[in-house]
Amino acid sequence: MATAVMQWPGSYCDTKQSCCYPTTGKPAADFGIHGLWPNYQDGKYPQNCDSKNPFNPDKIADLRSSMQKNWPTLACPSGNGVGFWTHEWEKHGTCSESVLDQHGYFQAALGLQKQVNLLQALTSAGINPDGRSYSLSNIKSAIQETVGFTPWIECNTDTSGNSQLYQIYLCVDTTGKNLIECPVFPRGKCGSEIEFPSF
Ligand code: 5GP
Repeated sequence: MATAVMQWPGSYCDTKQSCCYPTTGKPAADFGIHGLWPNYQDGKYPQNCDSKNPFNPDKIADLRSSMQKNWPTLACPSGNGVGFWTHEWEKHGTCSESVLDQHGYFQAALGLQKQVNLLQALTSAGINPDGRSYSLSNIKSAIQETVGFTPWIECNTDTSGNSQLYQIYLCVDTTGKNLIECPVFPRGKCGSEIEFPSF
């Protein structure tokens, strides 16, 4: 199985570490992909599974514009995304290479992000990126109702120390195509009310 991880850019950027917009410009105010992480049923992740299969941008040339839009890098210094995608493929992607080649891996992640449409799931339940606080259980229910599966929510803290919605985790089968119920959830560190910052 694997876990699809989506990040809210506003919560990456309003922290102490801050962020840098990609060289291609400010990303859309939407959940971007962080990665697709193959993992075991017990929640552990294998890592860096094949150093002989390095990331090769030529293999995903046809996906590049979609990647720039949907899988933007926010780390500093500003990059064009290749560094982030290289890291994700080499650390995580290589661990499912028997099922998904490089093109298949990135395509699967893009497909999942489109399928789940997390921002729409939240805003249609009145949960908007407006800097206000929302209950964690309402956030989870809104996603469970439209996506059909329970997500795990990861929080981080802004510069004032408020707990906020940072990343959303959804479990998928080994093909990276079908959502499944998560067999285990990591321990949470969100408050019961969390902020949804603007971006
Ligand atoms: P991971 O959590 O996938 O193991 O590691 C994420 C790595 O990718 C970090 O070293 C981080 O610096 C880099 N990175 C580049 N851009 C981003 C981004 O937009 N979000 C996150 N979370 N990490 C990024």
